[in-house]
Amino acid sequence: MSDYVKRVIEETKAKNPNEPEFLQTVEEVLTSIEPVIEKHPEYEKAALLERIVEPERVIEFRVAWMDDEGKAHVNRGYRIQFNGAIGPYKGGLRFHPSVNLSILKFLGFEQIFKNSLTTLPIGGGKGGSDFDPHGKSDAEIMRFCQAFMTELQRHIGPDTDVPAGDIGVGGREIGYLFGQYRRIRDAYENGVLTGKGLTYGGSLIRPEATGFGVLYYAEQVLKHENDSIEGKTFVLSGYGNVAWGAATKIAQLGGKAVTISGHNGYVYDPDGIVGEEKLNYLLEMRASRHANIKMYAEKFGCEFHEGEKPWGVKADVYIPCATQNEVTLDEAKKIVANGAKYYFEGANMPATNEAVKYLQENGVIVGPAKAVNAGGVSVSALEMSQNSMRYGWSAEEVDAKLHDIMKSIHDNSAAAAAEYGLGYDLVKGANIAGFAKVAEAMMAQGLF
Ligand code: NDP
Repeated sequence: MSDYVKRVIEETKAKNPNEPEFLQTVEEVLTSIEPVIEKHPEYEKAALLERIVEPERVIEFRVAWMDDEGKAHVNRGYRIQFNGAIGPYKGGLRFHPSVNLSILKFLGFEQIFKNSLTTLPIGGGKGGSDFDPHGKSDAEIMRFCQAFMTELQRHIGPDTDVPAGDIGVGGREIGYLFGQYRRIRDAYENGVLTGKGLTYGGSLIRPEATGFGVLYYAEQVLKHENDSIEGKTFVLSGYGNVAWGAATKIAQLGGKAVTISGHNGYVYDPDGIVGEEKLNYLLEMRASRHANIKMYAEKFGCEFHEGEKPWGVKADVYIPCATQNEVTLDEAKKIVANGAKYYFEGANMPATNEAVKYLQENGVIVGPAKAVNAGGVSVSALEMSQNSMRYGWSAEEVDAKLHDIMKSIHDNSAAAAAEYGLGYDLVKGANIAGFAKVAEAMMAQGLF
């Protein structure tokens, strides 16, 4: 390993001892971009890596809100403005009890390179709260979102920082957040948030974008391997926005998703999660106050495996779409033992670094999160463009642009890997392609 990369990884570990998820991503990205660092000795003198691992700004704040019984609660809110070299900070808001600084820093750091890969002018950011939306009423969600935005609004804006949804933040939450922003700022700046409803500036295809993008990327990889989606079986985890979009596109392309999962187990549906009734039921479940994956098994009469993950189920393609670190080395061994050839990351950092290494060493083609799931943020950036133009593209136009972007992400990653003699390593290729643009912009803008 290059001395410079090694030193920055060690220093980052020393400075952030309680942030394992962040350190995991830093190690993954920095070791991947080593060949670029070797080619650019000027980066060390400019302390480029030391700067890129340090967020430009971390905002932490109190969110006080009242439940339906009149009892007050306090949660912690965050926004991390990680890197604005190539555009306004852009990245989702996550509402989940597991949210902490380490998780948001890993997501924000990852977002820098993902956003760069999209070919669009957006910087990297992330935010959220340790608020748990499960079991809350609509009114409680609204009051929480209003309290959260009351503070967040002073840090964001259409040309400054543009948040979107993530786990626990969908169309309903974005609506409440935007309403509060508009009320306080007294201006119709709808480019300040993406993932909005269609009546107030949302983009067609945004809800589907991440899942559809996963499959558009997968299509490129399978084409590279002279293969196709048609007739393939897929194992998915999660049953939220990304899993729904992916299952929908898999069905459209003639494949079949046979599993979905939640925090308490997975469902095996050998007939496939295909057809309007099943796909719409995923949306219904996610919107329900007491959402639970078991509801699907009960409704459609299929197996529910309580407390288990789906990676032991045999399939051609594996796509985690839930949360971080759900594929460990042991789970990766199951995927390899099932004879899988493809693994695409719909969720962010769904696997440990050693699991990814094991999959690659055993002949599985890995599509990394920052490339595979970049369709969501890409259409968010297209939503920003439409908001500034005060004009909306048709669903076909947005879908065609999404398709082109996912193809560019794949092609640019493959080309970057080839340029540095790394074969068809899409993990290293994505890191290199994403990093190169941000590094050049940071160098051009002087010390900051
Ligand atoms: P949703 O909130 O719609 O769904 C989250 C899913 O993950 C649910 O099925 C949930 O199940 C499951 N889940 C959450 N936490 C855990 C946990 N600790 N253990 C097991 N399962 C869990 O989120 P999204 O679909 O939007 O996001 C899923 C992933 O995709 C995240 O990693 C997100 O960062 C990433 N992503 C999302 C994008 C988007 O556009 N939405 C864009 C790019 C990446 P349960 O309800 O049972 O907990």
